[in-house]
Amino acid sequence: MSFSWDCAATDGRARAGTLHTAHGDVETPVFMPVGTAGTVKAMTADAVRATGARMILGNTYHLMLRPGADRVAALGGLHRMIDWPGPILTDSGGFQVMSLAGLRKLDEGGVTFRSHVDGSAHRLTPESSIAIQEKLDATVSMALDECTKFPATGEQASDSMALSMRWAARSRAAFLPRPGYGLFGIVQGSTLRDLRLASVDALTAIGFEGYAIGGLAVGEGQETMFGVLDYTVPALPADRPRYLMGVGTPDDLIGAVARGIDMFDCVIPTRAGRTARAYTSRGVFNLRNARFADDPRPLDAACPCPLCTRHARAYLHHLFRCEEMLGPMLLTWHNVQYYQDFMHGLREAIVRGNLEAHAAAVRARWGEGDDPP
Ligand SMILES: [Zn+2]
Repeated sequence: MSFSWDCAATDGRARAGTLHTAHGDVETPVFMPVGTAGTVKAMTADAVRATGARMILGNTYHLMLRPGADRVAALGGLHRMIDWPGPILTDSGGFQVMSLAGLRKLDEGGVTFRSHVDGSAHRLTPESSIAIQEKLDATVSMALDECTKFPATGEQASDSMALSMRWAARSRAAFLPRPGYGLFGIVQGSTLRDLRLASVDALTAIGFEGYAIGGLAVGEGQETMFGVLDYTVPALPADRPRYLMGVGTPDDLIGAVARGIDMFDCVIPTRAGRTARAYTSRGVFNLRNARFADDPRPLDAACPCPLCTRHARAYLHHLFRCEEMLGPMLLTWHNVQYYQDFMHGLREAIVRGNLEAHAAAVRARWGEGDDPP
């Protein structure tokens, strides 16, 4: 079977579709929980599946350092090792080299860096990144790119984008085609329209199974990010999936889905789950707040997760106060469940053709929380 995406319905620029892969189908728009080092933190694979999640993300940088790509391959690949037979997308490692590694040095060939774990020296090139992702058995591999820093001058953004496009061509050449597997290119160009459109041209000339938009949600603000999507997304091929990397809050997701994005990943629901921040249909709550100490209500009456169906808010408050590990486990499950149900709701609304009204109703219910999502 070939790797493909087909469209079931559109509503404005928003799209509902299905991604077909070697590891099964995925309905889009889709939110992929982040399984950084071979685990969606604090969740078993069964728990992740129970939320309705069908595709997850793994981080090449973390996995290449520990346990190492060869060890993952010897254990049968990432799917087998972590008990996730469904599709897995891996990033190229480049973003985390630039954000986590020490003593990094970027040149035309690639990037040399020291591990943040033990200081050991490593080098990542477009070719080695693709080889590592192949050993991990990633369903979707990502081309190595440089996530352009923000803010950047026009010259810095242009040079960085051009380097990423040369690396995209090398990534494509290094990728071993396999039925149902895909390689995505990544659009760069900071917040400059001409650069973003030149990047789309360069990538579509090379040809990829899907197209990601990188270099956003790096401090430019939501309005600017949506502005970039407004001119970038329509330039992408209509018959390929579109992936907005590292985004975002539920409010970000509504705006990006409305602009034609199909795939997302973000650490927000899992990270927030470990810090007592609950994403709910009523808004974002901080469960450490003393007002929850005697609150007998479920966290979110609309949620089918084990936390909401079996426990009171007061119990979760207690678990976090005592730093019991069940607190992060239950709240991570809930947050991932919320994101999955939220995305499913957006998809249904696109199919019905009333995304705008649905989004307005969802936003109106967020008002009770400590913070808007
Ligand atoms: Zn819940």
